[in-house]
Amino acid sequence: MTRFVLFVVLAIFVARAFWRVYDAILEAASGRPPKGQVPDRGVQMVRDPVCGTFLIPDRAVMLADGRNRVFFCSDACRDKYRSRTA
Ligand SMILES: [Zn+2]
Repeated sequence: MTRFVLFVVLAIFVARAFWRVYDAILEAASGRPPKGQVPDRGVQMVRDPVCGTFLIPDRAVMLADGRNRVFFCSDACRDKYRSRTA
C-alpha cells in the first residue's frame, strides 16, 4: 500500500514537470510577446499571494510561474512562494 502511495506522489510530480514544459512549448509556439512586458497601462492591482498585499504590477516583484505571472511585495515573499511551490 505504501508503495502505491509513493508511486502516485511520484506520478503527480512527473506530470507537473511535464505540464510546465508543455506550457512553455505552447507559449513559445504561439508567438506571444515575452513575459515581463506589460500590455496595457491600466492601474490594475495585483495581489501578493503570500501576505495578501495589493500591489501595482510595475512596482512589484514578478515571478513567472508557468504561464501565469505572480506578483509580490518583496523578494522575501517571492522566495517564500517559490519554496512553497517548488
Ligand atoms: Zn508580500
